This record gives sequence, C-alpha cells and structure tokens, in this order.
Amino acid sequence: MSQAGSGPATGETHAPGAPAPQGGVPLAVPDIGPLERAAVIEALDSGFVSSVGPAVTEFEQEFARTVGSTYAVACSSGTAAIHVALRLLGVEPGDEVACSDFTFVGSSNPIAYQGARTLLIDSETDTWNLDPALLRQELARRAASGEAQPRCVEIVHVLGQPAQAAEILEICAEFSVPVLEDAAESLGAGWSAGPLAGRQTGTVGTIGCFSFNGNKIATSGGGGMLVTDDAELARRAKHLTTQAKVPDVGYLHDEVGYNYRLTNLAAALGLAQLRRLPEFVAAKQAIAARYDAAFADLPLTLPPRIEGMDATYWLYSVLLPSPADRAPFLAHLEERKIGGRALWRPLHAQPPFADSTLVGGEVSTRLFDTGVSLPCSTQLSEADQARVIDAVVSYFS
Ligand SMILES: *Cc1c(COP(=O)(O)O)cnc(C)c1O
Repeated sequence: MSQAGSGPATGETHAPGAPAPQGGVPLAVPDIGPLERAAVIEALDSGFVSSVGPAVTEFEQEFARTVGSTYAVACSSGTAAIHVALRLLGVEPGDEVACSDFTFVGSSNPIAYQGARTLLIDSETDTWNLDPALLRQELARRAASGEAQPRCVEIVHVLGQPAQAAEILEICAEFSVPVLEDAAESLGAGWSAGPLAGRQTGTVGTIGCFSFNGNKIATSGGGGMLVTDDAELARRAKHLTTQAKVPDVGYLHDEVGYNYRLTNLAAALGLAQLRRLPEFVAAKQAIAARYDAAFADLPLTLPPRIEGMDATYWLYSVLLPSPADRAPFLAHLEERKIGGRALWRPLHAQPPFADSTLVGGEVSTRLFDTGVSLPCSTQLSEADQARVIDAVVSYFS
C-alpha cells in the first residue's frame, strides 16, 4: 500500500461505496440508505439541481441547529469553506497563519491560496492536536520580540478528537489572534465538561469549517459548511461563495468572489445524512469501544480517551510500538484483506509547506511514523469487526 498519498485518510484503499475486493473489510465507506436515496430523487424531481434550491437553506438551518451555531453557510467543499474563512479573517499575501502541523493538507492549502505562509505548531500527545504550550511559547516570544503575530490560528480536531480548545482560545484572546476551527473530521464531537461543556467542535472559534467529502462521518458527495455566530461574517461568507454578486442589480460583483456554493442536489444528500448523524456517531463510538477493549493488552497506543471530551472516533487509529512496525503491520493487514492506512505525513514534510516556520515537530513525526487507521465504517458488521481484531491481535502473537 502506498504511504505517500496525501489524500484524506480514507476512501482510497477501496473506492467509497464499493465493496471491498474479494470479501475484504474496507477502511471506511459511506453509509447511504433509503432516506438518502429518497432525498436525492426528490431534489432531482424538483428541478433544483444546482446552486439554488430549498435543500441548501434547509441544510444550513438544520446544520446550525445541530452543531449549535447561529449561522451556517454551505460551501462546495471543506477546503473552500476554509479558504473563505481565511479571507474573512483578513488573511492576505505575506501574512502568516498558525496551523496544526499534524493534519490533512486540506487544512493548509487554503492558507497558500491566500498567498500566506504557514506557521506550523506541533501536536501534544494527549489529543494528537495542536499543543497549547507550544502555541503560547511562540506567541509570547513574538510579543516579547515585537515580531508580528500570525493573522489567525487554525486548529484542527483530527480524527474526530476535540483539540484543547479552551486553553487555545484563552491564549489567542490574550494575544488578540482569532481562532479558525477546521472541524472537517469532527462533526458530532464536543465537550461535556470544563469551560466548553455542552459545545461542539467547530462552534467555539470565530469561524468553524466542516467537510462532507465521501470519507467524512456524513457526506453530501462533496461539500462543506462554514459556521459562525457573527451575522456580518455569515453574510460575507455567502456573498463570497456566490461570486460576490450584488443582489437585485444585473451582474454587478463588488469584489472577487468564488463559485463555492453547494448544489441543491448535494445539500439534499447532506441533509439526509445529517439526520442520521446521532446514529453514525453512536456506531463509530461502539466500534471504538470494542476495539479498545480487544486491544487493551497489546503494545499499541489507543486513540485518546479524555474525560470531558466526546470524541466521535471518526477514523479509529492506533500508534504502533515503533516506526519499524508500520510497513509489516500494514502488509499483515493487507494479506488478510483488511483495509488499513498510515496517518498523514506532517505538513512540515510536505513539499509545498517544507519552508514553513515549524515549532516542535517531534510529536507529529511520531504520529505519522507509527499511526495506522483501522476499518471503522458505521455499518461495519460484528463479524467484520472480529476479523479486524483477529488480524491486529495476530500481528503481535
Ligand atoms: C477532509 C478535510 C479537509 C477538506 O475537506 P474537503 O471537503 O475534502 O475539501 C480539510 N481539513 C481536514 C482536516 C480534512 O480531513
């Protein structure tokens, strides 16, 4: 299996929606049922297939209610949502944006689209997400030396695991830097204790972005959502995603916008999936609990379990004892037709971001060198879960 691919962590081992080859267990495939089928056919029959139609607005409203934000603006992808968010936060050519080093490249490509530079901050080992201590150290160092602060801090809640957002928000408030949340992988995750109790990922920063790519916990085929509690930012987001067209005046565009609006057809699918989100989250959490119990005595680092944080375990991932284990472990899974996949190469090791300023980098490197994701489709049968468990256990025996 190739480990060099920079694509999202699922969906490439086996095409999403396709059965695994020769009776294998795919890494993760979408869960599309009769509700989705009916919604898409209804949207088709309505004639509203493109970027105007009732499902887009309905999806936005229901999404905002689901995650607990005031506004939601549907976009053509998560990457597009992040791009618009960066522009709304005033990111311009030559600026710097602080970003988690350990993430999928969809987090950082939009920073480059804006002509800005990435200031990469390593992860901490508890959540595998941006390390607040390193962030504080870097922002304090800049404040002391009179260096410019980054235009914003982009945190990512990887693999459905909330970041240490309360602490990060406090640090960013102290240095007056806005927080953008990349919640592409963490729809449904949140906090049940502490200062953010009752809140969901994506709703605690100035802007949050989600993805409905085919490999995410809920899909619209392809799509994204930008959420905020700020009416003006929401208005501007909608404006920028629709070519910055000024209403009621023939073809007047007051700035350079984008064709980033979600289609009605995609929104219909996304809305149907959103209604099943509690079911999806419960299924992911049940698979994670079963794997955790089965792997408890193995020399693996299991996914984070943190009091007060409700992770979804969107993509169940473990850390192997040593980097030397990764290739043989993946080969062992492949022989048994079990879809496994390495985690992301950190951004600092990606050619387009190699000249970023890097703070830390050892944790993200270790996550990449030893991390492997295991099959965790929401409809994964008990028998298939047992096959995955047997394959993992047998590697160590
Ligand atoms: C999937 C993903 C994105 C990009 O979302 P798309 O909808 O695929 O454009 C961004 N960031 C992270 C962390 C992701 O996993």
